[in-house]
Amino acid sequence: MAHSLTDTVDRCPVCGVELAARPCWPFFNGSCQHCGYLLWCFRVGADDVVVLSVVPDVMPEHKDIERLCEALIRSGEVARVVVDLSDIDYLDSLLTARFVALHRGIRAAEGRFVLCGLNRLVRDTLHYYKLDEYFELADQSSDGSTGLDDDSIESTVAGDP
Ligand SMILES: [Zn+2]
Repeated sequence: MAHSLTDTVDRCPVCGVELAARPCWPFFNGSCQHCGYLLWCFRVGADDVVVLSVVPDVMPEHKDIERLCEALIRSGEVARVVVDLSDIDYLDSLLTARFVALHRGIRAAEGRFVLCGLNRLVRDTLHYYKLDEYFELADQSSDGSTGLDDDSIESTVAGDP
């Protein structure tokens, strides 16, 4: 996984045009300036893997999911689609349903759909909906979330004297 600083360009997930501003910035008008796609997510990083960073407080409609699916399938880029939820504090049922639809569309094209950047609450929400095994979840071990394994470390230490 080669991440270089020159790859940190934000692009429209549908038409691929470079975005003038990051969609999560204040005063962003919410749509791609080129194709008009509602930027509920934007594409980051290099070309070999599709990484979609989800924008908080923007709710895609079903047609937006369909349009994204069609664009990814048309460009043959469904081999590994990673959806980054790092900027999402919580998942509501509607957004969860959108992810299910996106997952279904990509899997139907024999692609791979991965969720990453989940905080504890998002992870618990997926577990609540019994979707934590439905989705492929990727752990981001490099972002300093060391608190998660404290329990297992403690129980190991506090085990047999
Ligand atoms: Zn666009």
